[in-house]
Amino acid sequence: MTEMLRWSASEALAKLANGEVSSVELTKAVLARVEGRNAEINAYITVSGERALAMAAASDARRKAAKLSGKAAGALEGLPIAVKDLYCTAGIRTTAGSKILDNFVPAYESTVSGKLWDAGAVCVGKLNMDEFAMGGSGENSAYGVARNPWDTTRVPGGSSSGSSAAVADFQCFMATGSDTGGSIRQPASMTGIVGIKPTYGRCSRYGMVAFASSLDQAGAMARTVEDAARMMQVIAGHDPKDSTSSPQAVPDWLGGLDGLNVKGLRIGLPKEYFIDGMDARVRGVIMDAVKKFEAAGAVVKEIRLPSTEFALAAYYIVAPAEAASNLARYDGMRYGLRVEGKNLLETYIKSRSAGFGDEPKRRIMVGNYVLSSGYYDAYYHKAMQVRTLLVREFAAAFEQVDVIMTPTAPNPAFKIGEKVSDPVALYLEDAFTVTVNMAGLPGISVPAGVVEDRGVKLPVGLQIIGRHWDEAGILRVGRAWEKLRGEWSPPQ
Ligand code: GLN
Repeated sequence: MTEMLRWSASEALAKLANGEVSSVELTKAVLARVEGRNAEINAYITVSGERALAMAAASDARRKAAKLSGKAAGALEGLPIAVKDLYCTAGIRTTAGSKILDNFVPAYESTVSGKLWDAGAVCVGKLNMDEFAMGGSGENSAYGVARNPWDTTRVPGGSSSGSSAAVADFQCFMATGSDTGGSIRQPASMTGIVGIKPTYGRCSRYGMVAFASSLDQAGAMARTVEDAARMMQVIAGHDPKDSTSSPQAVPDWLGGLDGLNVKGLRIGLPKEYFIDGMDARVRGVIMDAVKKFEAAGAVVKEIRLPSTEFALAAYYIVAPAEAASNLARYDGMRYGLRVEGKNLLETYIKSRSAGFGDEPKRRIMVGNYVLSSGYYDAYYHKAMQVRTLLVREFAAAFEQVDVIMTPTAPNPAFKIGEKVSDPVALYLEDAFTVTVNMAGLPGISVPAGVVEDRGVKLPVGLQIIGRHWDEAGILRVGRAWEKLRGEWSPPQ
């Protein structure tokens, strides 16, 4: 593999800026890597090679012109990146990992991806994912499972499985993910990269295929905290096209990244996230990280988040309820798969039966059940009450501490096929991440260390949770952790 693929995004941007490399050269190197690896890793559903080369050439021309006129280049000028296949990309197929959208070519661009191209980034392609972002392993994709570069017999986490695999495998410099219950942080943890889910409302959801609209949030996946901050800086911000996006100004995250004095930083460790029976190796890696913070002067406090034990159950009511309603639009009428029936109803039934995989079908059934009259109060209403409790408990905890640290996931990457027959076992992997979505808080996963499992080394992520709108805080703590941890060695 050529050395330039190993550069961080920040290094690549610096070299693009000083003319050491052109965007066309960099893009060709990335495309060659993808071509050589996609059969095995399966990170990309669609590679937009021609478009990438045209965008790269345009970027090189723009940079030249900007130099002549003294103008500054875009924040990601010339950088080859990729997007999860649920961001609508005008003219490029967008499947959301589903057969029902196999032939869907959007006529418009999502706000987040549009901002990336406006900043000069080059689109390498669309990344594999669990169907409609439902899953935690990538195995629910209708386009085959993506593989973990640390051990290709294992999953790369999900639902942003292609994003984590591609970034970890040097098949792009950074990628977008989306996170409804952990889909950025958990795959980041399982592939040894950084993944940040910002506060709900920080990024526009316009043009993202919806799963559970009150939880869905865009975010960044990259190999370093600095690179993730770079992407966040571009994609965050208010959008009149999404009424849930916040009008709050976006701070200079990148500029403030390195200033943190760990001395006096108050770190909360929730008792409920360090339970008996959890993977001792994962606990060990996280506690080692916490001890390093302590040695550097941080103050560690045990905190309580008592409703945590209900969070997973509540999430698996709220998310399917919203999914059932969001997925109602796939009826074979205006776009997507259509299987003709004798009449309208039969066309609906045939199209949806053929188009959706098992997991979306399961969620549609659960979602409609918990919303149906007679059951609404027992399930959906109760779940919303739990959600309120989670919000309150986090708010109380943040009166005592500046950030909360937990493992990102209870286990390292598991084997492909190991959990497919047991959906509940897979749901349990989300125990430490869904709480953050339910409360709308920002969270980041940063590689903490490695554990050994059945003879292979696997990464474990440290989750850092912050107050609402305090992405600056978790990015700074994440960056401080990178320094305390030292060099991070990727799988190859
Ligand atoms: N694994 C969780 C689920 O299946 C989270 C998915 C996500 O964040 N998109 O719902």
